[in-house]
Amino acid sequence: MNKKREVKKIKSGNYSKEEHSKEPISPTHPKHLYGRIHALVEHKLWLQVIFALFFGIGIGLLIGPDIGLIDFEISKLIGEWASLPGILFLKIIQIVVIPLIFVSIIIGITGAKNLRQLKQMGLTLAGYFIFTTIVAVTIAILLASTIQPGKYISQDSINLTDTANLPLSDVSFSMPSFNEIPSFIDRVFPTNLVGSMVYGELLAIVFFAIIFGIALIAINPRKARPLISLLSAVQSLCMTIIKWAMFLAPIAVFGMMIKLTTEFGISTLLGLGAYVLTVLIGLLILIIFYFIIVYIFAKKTPREFIKQIRDAQLLAFSTSSSAAVMPLSMKVAEEKLKVKPAVAQFVIPTGAVINMDGTALYQVIATMFLAQVFGVSLGITALLLLIVTVVGASIGTPSTPGAGIAILAMILTGLGIPLAGIALILGVDRILDMSRTTVNVTGDLTASVFIDKVVKST
Ligand code: ASP
Repeated sequence: MNKKREVKKIKSGNYSKEEHSKEPISPTHPKHLYGRIHALVEHKLWLQVIFALFFGIGIGLLIGPDIGLIDFEISKLIGEWASLPGILFLKIIQIVVIPLIFVSIIIGITGAKNLRQLKQMGLTLAGYFIFTTIVAVTIAILLASTIQPGKYISQDSINLTDTANLPLSDVSFSMPSFNEIPSFIDRVFPTNLVGSMVYGELLAIVFFAIIFGIALIAINPRKARPLISLLSAVQSLCMTIIKWAMFLAPIAVFGMMIKLTTEFGISTLLGLGAYVLTVLIGLLILIIFYFIIVYIFAKKTPREFIKQIRDAQLLAFSTSSSAAVMPLSMKVAEEKLKVKPAVAQFVIPTGAVINMDGTALYQVIATMFLAQVFGVSLGITALLLLIVTVVGASIGTPSTPGAGIAILAMILTGLGIPLAGIALILGVDRILDMSRTTVNVTGDLTASVFIDKVVKST
């Protein structure tokens, strides 16, 4: 192959399938690996993940506490070992997700034609995020007050004293009171990019990226160009590492499901059936709401839409982390949903950090459920406070497993509901986390379709 052409391809990273097949590549050659991963992500990932999911749950049930074919201690040990590929998978993604969010948002912003278009995109997106979160919260309030899941819990089953093992330690976000607002803004507004990256402060990183991106549009294009090339090289590099990690995805899902089922079993789920069902019905309604948006603005039927986004949804379901799925969501938005790259690269990472409709819905239902269980009545003022807090909290909730329940602790405190309630719902939280993360990711993908259609490209 001509040397110049080869160098050009290495730069762009665009190796087509034909080129892979024409070149004599040994099985261990990195290019060969790249091709296989590409094929995996392109064609069969969802099938493999579904298979891994059910297979993992099946094995977990057999050896877990419900059927208990083997000793509990041994099944716990198997669960620990089985979860190792999942831990590695998430770690590899964590390594690159922060730089990826940073560079993708900047590149997305610089892809805007001009500042006017950027302003339109930013404002529409902010309005969209707030609107869909309010829809999520409203669905939650209506459902929790009609179904009243708290009524199905007997008071004797509640242990109010045990708060020792609650996931409260890493709560890093709290809603400010009115006179705390200035110092709250001062705290949230970043001052040190490297510091924010080191501490994984995603919200601060999004702020930085937006300011950086706007400045990059404002300076002389000749000066901006080398920096944009550098950032897009970093982006390609991160995406390549993510593609390698995807290779582990089915094994990771398989192991994580074994661990999950051996730890909790199905019986925990059944005890809190009414609560779990209320959250799941709410999430389903939210997904239908997204289908309507996608149908109205992109003329895509729900079937088509699901078919295009199922890779991302299944990975969200199995990892419970919208940050971990973010790179795949970006790829799905661009390649399957055909969203313009600049829009996908701006909307998806921003959404992964600040738009969590599923989490908002869950937090409201969980709060109202616990209020019903503990007989705390929530009047109009308390409900309004709940709405404002949850809309704010869903922006500050980290996109990682279990973050939603940690933030829930602060919401409960604000409303005078005993924190020990968290112990009650903790056992079923993982399955709800998986489901709400799927909705969070679907919400971001819907947002990208919406912005792509609504914001004019001229
Ligand atoms: N795990 C969720 C996410 O990553 C956040 C949550 O716990 O609600 O989107």
